[in-house]
Amino acid sequence: MRLENYRSPWMDADLDAFRDSVRRFIREQLLPHEDKWREQHRSDREAWRACGEMGMILPDMPSEYGGVDGSPAYYAVVMEELNYAGSVSIALGINHIVGHYILASGTEEQKRQWLPGIASGEIITSIAMTEPGTGSDLQGVRTRAVKKGDKYVISGSKTFISNGQNSDMVVVIAKTDTEAKGSKGISLFIVDTRTPGFIRGQCLDKVGLPGQDTSEMFFDECEVPASSLLGGVEGKGFYQLMQQLPYERAEIAIAAAAAMERAFALTVDYTRERKAFGKSILEFQNTRFQLAEIKAIVMASRTFCDLIVQRWVDGTLDTTMASMGKFWLTDRQCEVVDRCLQFFGGFGYMNEYPIARMFSDSRVARIYGGANEIQRELVGRSL
Ligand SMILES: Cc1cc2nc3c(=O)[nH]c(=O)nc-3n(C[C@H](O)[C@H](O)[C@H](O)COP(=O)(O)OP(=O)(O)OC[C@H]3O[C@@H](n4cnc5c(N)ncnc54)[C@H](O)[C@@H]3O)c2cc1C
Repeated sequence: MRLENYRSPWMDADLDAFRDSVRRFIREQLLPHEDKWREQHRSDREAWRACGEMGMILPDMPSEYGGVDGSPAYYAVVMEELNYAGSVSIALGINHIVGHYILASGTEEQKRQWLPGIASGEIITSIAMTEPGTGSDLQGVRTRAVKKGDKYVISGSKTFISNGQNSDMVVVIAKTDTEAKGSKGISLFIVDTRTPGFIRGQCLDKVGLPGQDTSEMFFDECEVPASSLLGGVEGKGFYQLMQQLPYERAEIAIAAAAAMERAFALTVDYTRERKAFGKSILEFQNTRFQLAEIKAIVMASRTFCDLIVQRWVDGTLDTTMASMGKFWLTDRQCEVVDRCLQFFGGFGYMNEYPIARMFSDSRVARIYGGANEIQRELVGRSL
């Protein structure tokens, strides 16, 4: 699916070999289940374990915590290959983000307790930030965590939480100090979903990504040990989140660039085969002009994405670059997929066609990981 005659500058021979094995694995072990997962609205646990065995979940984590000691480029390869294949129901990205929250901010005990299981896929995780009353404005969360002896009691509601039905552990954002101004009273907690008071809500009926178990979650006086506080210090939650958000946004940007390449390739193939008025649709000048424009957008997106990956690898990816990539590439993704779908005519509206699924699956990329308006706001602050 990658553009012909183009090689990402961050690729090397080891990454080529990793890409080949990941591609084969996705084709043989994940893709055959994609339809079933879309019907049952969740992925199967065995697939998570198989991805863990492949080193696909936390390839860029030190091996002492269950990772593979790779650079973020290995994870970029995983994201790209999942999107080239259209294997989008298994939300590995959440485990990747949670793993990095814990690596960056967790105590040594938290790292040893959770990271190996997250990397192996034995533990499926969620991040519970959004609430029915607030998403973009996270400082407005109403979930509370009240200290009671050597425990915290968490109460509140969360919604739109990825992996919500499957998760064994949830990183929850809650207020530990309701008097503190702004972000200061916010903390993150690592909650084992077997804890009494943790309640899974319904799996939500969405426009796209039907194979992901996006759900509600409730915390009804859920008592967790004080050692569940990420990093062991109250009031650091917002900072801990912000530290990792560029990487979460980079993941979404990488997925967007790969999805565009796939949409473009599928469309060239289809228009070459499909006939109307005695010739292939690709022969109409309109098709060639449109696809020429789309190819230029896909190429520009690929090179922008490569810059983001390179900065991630170099350790120089900042908020502005990640936010620019997130909003620009996901806006382009929706534009490209929509324009490509048009060439499939009525078939483009049928879910059995990958382009139709891509249309409904891609829309959320402009909303989650921080709405694109928020990304523009963040970039605006750099001016
Ligand atoms: C499929 C899916 C999966 C998700 N997974 C997770 C998850 O795993 N964990 C999690 O915590 N959340 C998750 N979310 C939630 C997602 O991150 C939020 O929906 C998103 O951050 C927007 O928050 P909101 O829905 O409350 O929208 P609101 O905050 O109500 O905003 C609505 C709209 O208002 C506009 N807006 C808001 N603020 C501004 C501003 N300052 N300037 C200009 N315009 C603005 C934007 O257009 C925005 O889209 C998921 C959502 C979906 C749909």
